[in-house]
Amino acid sequence: MRTLIVNGTIVTADGSYQADVLVDGETIAQIGANLAATVTVERTIDATGRWVIPGGIDIHTHMELPFGGTFAKDTFETGTRAAAFGGTTTIVDFAVQSKGQALRTGLDAWHAKAEGNAVIDYGFHMIMSDVTDDTLAEMDQLVAEGVPDFKLFTAYPGVFFSPDDHIFRALQQTEKNGGLILMHAENGPAIDVVAAQLIAEGKTDPYYHGVARYPVFEGEATSRVIKLAEAAGAPIYIVHMSVVNALNVLREARDRGVPAYAETCPQYLFLSIEDLGNGFNGSKFVCSPPLREKDPNWDELWTALRRNDLQVVSTDHCPFDFHGQKEMGRGDFRKIPNGLPGVEDRVDLVFNGGVVGGKISKERWVEIVSTEPAKLFGMYPRKGAIAVGSDADIVVYDPERSRTISAETHHMNVDYSCYEGWEIKGGSDVVMSRGSVVVDHGEFTGRKGYGQFLKRGPAEYARKA
Ligand SMILES: [Zn+2]
Repeated sequence: MRTLIVNGTIVTADGSYQADVLVDGETIAQIGANLAATVTVERTIDATGRWVIPGGIDIHTHMELPFGGTFAKDTFETGTRAAAFGGTTTIVDFAVQSKGQALRTGLDAWHAKAEGNAVIDYGFHMIMSDVTDDTLAEMDQLVAEGVPDFKLFTAYPGVFFSPDDHIFRALQQTEKNGGLILMHAENGPAIDVVAAQLIAEGKTDPYYHGVARYPVFEGEATSRVIKLAEAAGAPIYIVHMSVVNALNVLREARDRGVPAYAETCPQYLFLSIEDLGNGFNGSKFVCSPPLREKDPNWDELWTALRRNDLQVVSTDHCPFDFHGQKEMGRGDFRKIPNGLPGVEDRVDLVFNGGVVGGKISKERWVEIVSTEPAKLFGMYPRKGAIAVGSDADIVVYDPERSRTISAETHHMNVDYSCYEGWEIKGGSDVVMSRGSVVVDHGEFTGRKGYGQFLKRGPAEYARKA
């Protein structure tokens, strides 16, 4: 199957230009002016007035994650389908090692969830709940198998929490095997002290979830893990940075040339601790780190994105229904499952808030939603690029379209939206995954099981840049 995308403006991290794109099979075969005059194809897509961009890459999702006695509601089928509607053609999800298990057991379980179900390509990071001689040795095997990143937590004592010696050993291992450590950086033990005190005072509403998790607890943990990475000589990537207290630590380290990287998420750019108010309705907005004060955090996060102190926007997509799931925490905010839906809205929200909002260029938008994630996570230039030989993961994007976000119309398997009623500009007209159109003007044309496991390379870019 050969497809020609004509009359569009190609927008990449490096620049924008008018050209046609020839897709042959699963990859991009040719880019140039007036290709219609020289090639014959089975299908032509007219992209007049549209942008042709590399498909979005969301490197932080949790499909079917077990958490707090329940499961995140999107499966690999529903979650990747929703991603595709939102212009995302690759996800990297987190396989979970439970305490006492081998990494292999957790990874096999995630392969079983995804295989035959995903509609777009997917990779895995590995959550490590135990750092032992055995799991350290397993890390090397996983890097060789295309699962080169490992997430550890300074939060969630008793569940995912790792003490400093475990984190340091894992960092030392990636220094040797070429992998990358991802950190959830909040001081979990200190948060638990404050949370218990608030509950004892009768402060049980979702709002106090935000109160308990002080910004300094994120700043302190961020500082600690970056310094541990420096000591180990390894790069480090901080997930879901939410607040200036942590951002200042990151900037200071990067200014000294430390290979420290970080992402933020749409919820920290567009939502605030105010959303956690409003009684138990605030449970819809419970995630960790929590939503923060609008000022100065939103502006500072955007500035950091513009200046490359933050490299990536991903979602931490982890949807729980309000009814029946978030409600488990009525009377005790500690029992509300942590997580928000978002995989479908990321590309558009960052476009609307960033490009339409005048905060970043359209080229930087493409960079932070696609190209940088591809580079940092061993997928570039197969993914994240409009280039000859790259996978034909292409979105024909309409920058002029308007739409209203609503749980009534979204495709994520969850009963609410954090952005209900928001009117935004921008949307994906045609979404192509490895040369196959999976969403065509709002119609799903993909196939369950089409998505393939992505064997990713080691984190070379994180070591060089
Ligand atoms: Zn997460």
